Amino acid sequence: MHAIAIHGGAGAVPRAALSAEREQRYRAGLEAALEAGHQILVQGGSSLDAVTTAVRLLEDDPMFNAGHGAALTRDGAAELDAAIMEGAAMRAGAVASVRHVRNPIELARRIMQKSRHVLLVGAGAEEFALEEGMALVPNHYFRTAERLAQLQAEQRGETVSEIMPPAPRGTVGAVARDAAGNLAAATSTGGMTNKRPGRVGDSPIIGAGTYAKNGVCAVSATGHGEYFIRAVAAHHVCASVEFRGLTLEQAVHEMLHETLRRLGGDGGMIAVDQHGGIVMNFSSDGMFRGARDSRGRHEIAIY
Ligand code: ASP
Repeated sequence: MHAIAIHGGAGAVPRAALSAEREQRYRAGLEAALEAGHQILVQGGSSLDAVTTAVRLLEDDPMFNAGHGAALTRDGAAELDAAIMEGAAMRAGAVASVRHVRNPIELARRIMQKSRHVLLVGAGAEEFALEEGMALVPNHYFRTAERLAQLQAEQRGETVSEIMPPAPRGTVGAVARDAAGNLAAATSTGGMTNKRPGRVGDSPIIGAGTYAKNGVCAVSATGHGEYFIRAVAAHHVCASVEFRGLTLEQAVHEMLHETLRRLGGDGGMIAVDQHGGIVMNFSSDGMFRGARDSRGRHEIAIY
């Protein structure tokens, strides 16, 4: 039994504002990432490889807010956050506020596997990436005309830009269970449009936006990160399954629609349990998402 789920962020474009052509581009990007991750699992690969590959493809796709096409800080720069965790030994790697690492999820994985640390930020993280011979790019590689337009619209105080529909937040993530029963989670993001430089969201905070523990669940979150950090959302979901006997579906629902809603935050989560059961839920207008498993489930959805 194997299963994978991916997300391309919560807070989707309102249905009426999404053209058929853009919807097609979102769906194609999700399908490509889902298929790549699924194929790794089909061939007996690890959940860690599946989530890394799926997230890397979404980072390279300018439609999503991670890597190329990331949301911009109020200074117009991209500052990227990412995390990865594997459930077998509960090892984790994370990176925050990097400006030149082409694929932050690869760096997070390298930090997990090759450093003595879990979380590296800013210049120190980029120094490590350089030592590892990873691809570094100028900051403008990440900046697309659309993200610049979104930033300018937000700075003008517009909620709906005349140039383009409102920004989905668009963080990306993946969770998977492989045939050996190992769980893994990965999340990558440019954070929130118009954020203050140095702001770090929930995505790279282990337990907030990303978490995996074998025998329990793997979770990747998207949404207003400040709230997910305060709720320690991803870990809390797993703890509710492990210690309170909730199903994964109940635990995710409670987190999004009760705990986070009470705090005032919205967003979504994808999660997979030890049996490969996939849960995808959100409290925002929508969430770009996809799921595929060895029992024949195969779906891509936005609303
Ligand atoms: N959770 C991300 C953050 O706060 C944003 C998102 O998911 O869209 O950085």
